Amino acid sequence: QAVFQSDVGTLLEQVGTGKESLSFMKRRIRRLAAQWASAARRLDDKLRHRWREQKRILVHVGFLTEESGDVFSPKVLKGGPLGEMVQWADILTALHVLGHDLKVSVSLKELSLGVPPGRGSCPLTGPLPFDLIYTDYHGLQQMKQHMGLSLRKHKCHIRVIDTFGTEPAYNHEEYATLHGYRTNWGYWNLHGQQYMTMFPHTPDNSFMGFVAEELNETERLNIQRNKVNNMAVVYGKEASRWKGKEKFLSILHRYMDIHGTVYFETQRPPEVPAFVKNHGLLPQHELQQLLRKAKLFIGFGFPYEGPAPLEAIANGCVFLQPKFSPPHSSLNHEFFRGKPTSRKVSSQHPYAEQYIGRPHVVTIDFNNSEDFDSTIREIMRSNVEPFLPYEYTCEGMLERVNAYIQNQVGLTPFPPVNSSWLGSPPTPFILQQHNSSILTWASNASAYTSWPPLSALRLLASLEGQSCVKACQSAGLICEPALYRFINIKEAFSALDFQCEGLESEMNHLFPAFSAEHAECGLQQDPLLFSCAGSSSKYQRLCPCRDYLSGQVALCRDCL
Ligand code: UDP
Repeated sequence: QAVFQSDVGTLLEQVGTGKESLSFMKRRIRRLAAQWASAARRLDDKLRHRWREQKRILVHVGFLTEESGDVFSPKVLKGGPLGEMVQWADILTALHVLGHDLKVSVSLKELSLGVPPGRGSCPLTGPLPFDLIYTDYHGLQQMKQHMGLSLRKHKCHIRVIDTFGTEPAYNHEEYATLHGYRTNWGYWNLHGQQYMTMFPHTPDNSFMGFVAEELNETERLNIQRNKVNNMAVVYGKEASRWKGKEKFLSILHRYMDIHGTVYFETQRPPEVPAFVKNHGLLPQHELQQLLRKAKLFIGFGFPYEGPAPLEAIANGCVFLQPKFSPPHSSLNHEFFRGKPTSRKVSSQHPYAEQYIGRPHVVTIDFNNSEDFDSTIREIMRSNVEPFLPYEYTCEGMLERVNAYIQNQVGLTPFPPVNSSWLGSPPTPFILQQHNSSILTWASNASAYTSWPPLSALRLLASLEGQSCVKACQSAGLICEPALYRFINIKEAFSALDFQCEGLESEMNHLFPAFSAEHAECGLQQDPLLFSCAGSSSKYQRLCPCRDYLSGQVALCRDCL
């Protein structure tokens, strides 16, 4: 049984020493320990002290290993990316606080340390000593080298922390190769939900997330009292991010005092104008203090999708960011090129834009100077309270990670439902029609236990040219790839009033789908290709949607 634990002492010992990245993570773990502990108490109550299975978990942080080149550690104090370390620190803390039996590895040497006595140098051959392995793409590569063929056997235990996400079409080796979706990262033939992202980018992957610091009542009041209406902080700790932004900065400077946290060695970076008060790179807790005073946190387009905007919003700032039109993606932007996703990034921080929005988040076209100018004045006049979505609180992250660990057990490379029942649904399989487009599938076929449960399923057809991500979204729901297997049957077409002249079964990441032109119905041949992402003007896709909890999009009402 897993028992919540609030003392982080043993975790800190496990994380080890000797690298700036590890020190950064340990400072964070220590600073947030009390917040995690009280969240654990609340969740334990909420779950009514339910029995939870204790898992043996290996966390292998591949990008911090010397073997992967570890380019991050030397830059921790020099303005390099910190988002990944924030997330790994929080993942480690969440798993520890949930009470699992944790082993942490940040080097290949440690990866070999879990050797059961007398088993040679590779613990990951033979019976796997872990129920779950959290790693990243670098770590996956290292494990492949270590484990060789046995990786295949143990694949279902792996979870890949993957900041920006991996879509099924890129993950499926054969399909990616045949259809131009091959990238440097992808084609591991994992289950889409074995990839865990930093934000709920795409429902094809699971959502791991991280946490932001939470405020108590006194802190909230103090923030309201001490906000400085004409104080702005610029997002970006690397000087190069400021290049070419003079125009925006000078407009902003008409109204506000501008602060920055740009790393520098001895001299002020030339990219940062003299009127900016540059604090240099700040320790996380000092950045929080700065954000508590500031009214505006402004992004100039990079970095994409980092943690800092959530921290700013949580401390009562308005986050102002540029809209990207056309959206950035692997098809048109250097940063995303070669990443295993064709997701369209509509602004610097689509999560802030879509899940939070006004008044906390304002997304505009920065090229329109008049708009930019009036937006700044509007923000200065506005009264905005600190806000943190539940899924980014410690309790929210514990709840979600716990739900995944206890329920996401069917992530075998080949899903457990036998595809031989394609076309002949389990009986009794009852269809209840609520309206012309939304159906509830109900089944008492206990052999087909599912998580999220079948009760959450709402079947929809997308419009032509629309993805299932969008189709579910426009009905106030979310696409749930784990439920595809229940709608990949010919009955689903008739339930949606599609008349199939022909029925085929094919490897196509858009299937199941209906082609109006040929009145043809297409079923998905390979369950690994079930994908919420993807659209084509030729097809109306069949979409398994589900409801979600407010502030916790990863979970449905019946998921807990
Ligand atoms: N951060 C910091 N000091 C600073 C600026 C940022 O400690 O002066 C932290 C911040 O609290 C956030 C983390 O850096 O948690 C990552 O921030 P960002 O959103 O910039 O993402 P990155 O590009 O670093 O991954």
